[in-house]
Amino acid sequence: AALAVPAPAGGLILQQISLRLGGRQVLDGVSLTAAERRIGIVGRNGSGKTTLARVMAGLIAPDDGRAEVCGIDVARDRRGALGAVGILFQNPDHQIIFPTVEEEIAFGLTQMGRSRAEAAAATRAMLDRFGKGHWAGAATHSLSQGQKQLVCLMAILVMEPGLIVLDEPFSGLDIATRMQLMRCLDAVEATVALITHDPEPLTGFDRVIWLEGGKVIGDGPPDQVLDRFGRQMRIWGGQDDLSDLPG
Ligand code: ADP
Repeated sequence: AALAVPAPAGGLILQQISLRLGGRQVLDGVSLTAAERRIGIVGRNGSGKTTLARVMAGLIAPDDGRAEVCGIDVARDRRGALGAVGILFQNPDHQIIFPTVEEEIAFGLTQMGRSRAEAAAATRAMLDRFGKGHWAGAATHSLSQGQKQLVCLMAILVMEPGLIVLDEPFSGLDIATRMQLMRCLDAVEATVALITHDPEPLTGFDRVIWLEGGKVIGDGPPDQVLDRFGRQMRIWGGQDDLSDLPG
């Protein structure tokens, strides 16, 4: 049984998002209305994917435009954004702050104002859902990277967000672990926006957005967008944008 509340139609709305950082136009009029459950965001290094992820999670406010998740203006309503969007980063070591798994998973719920008892019960239920009840008292620092990433994912899911933004969450992991985490995502009811420069995990997705130079240059079903993206990557001869320096 899925715990998360599904995002309503149009759960993610980006309107003309623009943002300059260090003198560079990192996002340039990004618009997107998404009701799909599985959205991939691809693009070379430096194309603006991580910055867009941070905007979608309400961690950074755009200079212009509006980002709305489940009706919440995530740049202006920090408390609302906390419950509406969860974000998983590439390196779980930057995300984990507590000594034990159960503290790590319960923290967000207490931040949202739930009692310690409620948070503890929801944490147990979340661990059990993934067959990891025995992890509760485990030391977070003793876990493998893949295990840490799963703990971070559970810490997000327990808050029942409408949107989960995953920013290259599988880059450091071996193929088997990547596939295990992808399978965990299959059961998630929330809208998932997966940011990646590796098109492989996106084949079963509903929609793929392609960013280049802070602009959307491709948007459609995965087979169409990934086919063009793959061909362009071969022409570019790599995934890094070396055309310009920040600043
Ligand atoms: P991606 O995730 O696609 O690799 P990013 O969103 O991380 O792209 O970065 C897009 C561009 O913005 C890059 O050129 C990067 O150097 C620049 N950039 C990102 N954050 C900052 C910042 N805080 N200050 C200056 N430039 C930045």
